[in-house]
Amino acid sequence: MFVSDENAMRSLGRKVAGAGESAGVIYLEGELGAGKTTFARGVIQQFGITSRVKSPTYTLVEPYTIREIRIYHFDFYRLGDPEELEYIGARDYFAEGALCLIEWPERGQPLVPPPDLTVRISFESIGRCVEFLPSNQLGTRFASIALRAS
Ligand code: ADP
Ligand code: MG
Repeated sequence: MFVSDENAMRSLGRKVAGAGESAGVIYLEGELGAGKTTFARGVIQQFGITSRVKSPTYTLVEPYTIREIRIYHFDFYRLGDPEELEYIGARDYFAEGALCLIEWPERGQPLVPPPDLTVRISFESIGRCVEFLPSNQLGTRFASIALRAS
């Protein structure tokens, strides 16, 4: 689908969060500057997080907790060695049944679990193109509400 600007990208993330699912693995794919963090910001804000949603570029992970729901926003762009993931305790993060939003997931292999949903973002001359690629029923539930006309 065509997503015209930053606000629309954040709204799309909000809709995915609105699916009512609070656990799962969402891969965010796209080049630098595609809008992955913007999308994640929408997801996280929809859960009621009011603090600033920072890009995890340098920290690798930013954790959020609200009403028993845990959200981990990862960005593995700067990951040098997948072993660093062991040091930050990623194995535990992934095992918790949290909602995991993962930028540059391929750089975290082999530790990163498979996705329920892949959100693929590409550049258009103006705005972006966003594709939803569900891997299973959970992914389909995340995607279907976002694909519904607003
Ligand atoms: P990434 O995390 O993929 O590197 P960001 O989310 O940081 O990208 O976004 C990079 C820039 O793209 C930001 O300035 C953001 O406002 C802008 N942006 C996000 N989504 C869109 C969109 N749909 N159309 C145009 N610009 C967008
Ligand atoms: Mg980013």
